[in-house]
Amino acid sequence: MSISSKDIVSLDANDPLRHFRDEFHIRENLVYLDGNSLGMLPKRVLPRMKEALTEEWGEGLITSWLNADWVNSPSRVGDKIAKLIGADAGEVIVGESTSINLFKALTAALSLQPNRTVILTETTNFPTDNYIMQGLSMFLDGKIEYKEVSPDSVCEALDESVAVLLLTQVHYKTAKIRNLKEVTEKAHAAGALVVWDLSHSTGAIEVDLNDAGADFAVGCGYKFLNGGPGAPAYLFASKRHHSAQPVLSGWFGHAKPFDFTGNYEAAPNINRFQCGTPPVLGISALECGVDLMLEANIAEVRAKSIALSELFVNLVEELCGDFGFEFICPRDERERGSQVAFAHPHAYEIMQALKARDVIGDFRAPNIMRFGLTPLYLSYSDIAEAVQRLRTICIEREWNRPEYRTRAAVT
Ligand SMILES: *Cc1c(COP(=O)(O)O)cnc(C)c1O
Repeated sequence: MSISSKDIVSLDANDPLRHFRDEFHIRENLVYLDGNSLGMLPKRVLPRMKEALTEEWGEGLITSWLNADWVNSPSRVGDKIAKLIGADAGEVIVGESTSINLFKALTAALSLQPNRTVILTETTNFPTDNYIMQGLSMFLDGKIEYKEVSPDSVCEALDESVAVLLLTQVHYKTAKIRNLKEVTEKAHAAGALVVWDLSHSTGAIEVDLNDAGADFAVGCGYKFLNGGPGAPAYLFASKRHHSAQPVLSGWFGHAKPFDFTGNYEAAPNINRFQCGTPPVLGISALECGVDLMLEANIAEVRAKSIALSELFVNLVEELCGDFGFEFICPRDERERGSQVAFAHPHAYEIMQALKARDVIGDFRAPNIMRFGLTPLYLSYSDIAEAVQRLRTICIEREWNRPEYRTRAAVT
């Protein structure tokens, strides 16, 4: 059955989230399908940053640590993120990058597993996760063994040697969702702890960490949370694990940082997972994105994400069916996060041609075109427009230009 432009208009008119689009700065003619790499700018960030810069920093200077509550911003915004991931207040702290938080969560989990020697993950995980694990194993002189297995054999690899299993819930290429509760239960049954990477989950799908009995989790601030380039990331540690030993034992994680005592004593709560001075300005911008996400109903966000992705896939099949795109995500929408991806021999060049036509997605080596679907600011018309432009590029073979063949540093 073909999809008419009337259908699209009606989908947009009946979209319960359509008013959120006005909350974002969106350039004319642009169809932005990369919100899973860098979310758009929420308009409210501009006045908030002006206030943070001129009043808090400019006028208040150091007094703003107390007067503007800078000192509590990591846990204040952490408590807000907690609501999006099924955690309790006091279980999430904001700061540093996802990579650093992966290191913190892994080492904290290892400190709770003195008799086990393996950190386990899967081969196709987002590279930084595996790099951090490899570096940790090297740093520990191989006393902790890094082990990776194929994505489908993770649970079978859980034996009595595994201290920590690290997995990403929504796969960054295929969008395949792992069952957080099921995997956590299997790991616990084998005596392992789990660190979940929620970078492609938070703000995109419903997550309930405490219902799953989760141990640790980390995630990104600049993707679906729209926190801005290089936004601080977050770390979740279940209340059960607030005695875990932080290895990055900086002064902001100290029980009494302003006593300036000689010996490290970790804070008795989530603050122990802080290290140095928090990135206050970054947290101010991130808070705007998180607030906006909290105003939306996550069930509606998920429903729209599924509808956008189904429309995308159906339109590609209908309008671009002859051009060799291979859908590489799970066909069952319940098993898929908020993106769609296609393999194509000329994926890189086609993505370049799309960008020239103001459709922004991204290319993931070796041959994948990935399109992020962000329900807060995308309309159904955006999807229809993107596929139309893709069709034109394929019919005209626009991608076949020499300038589209040179690989840029960031894809
Ligand atoms: C985006 C992403 C990261 C990013 O890590 P940074 O330290 O913020 O660069 C990590 N893990 C996954 C799964 C991601 O998708």
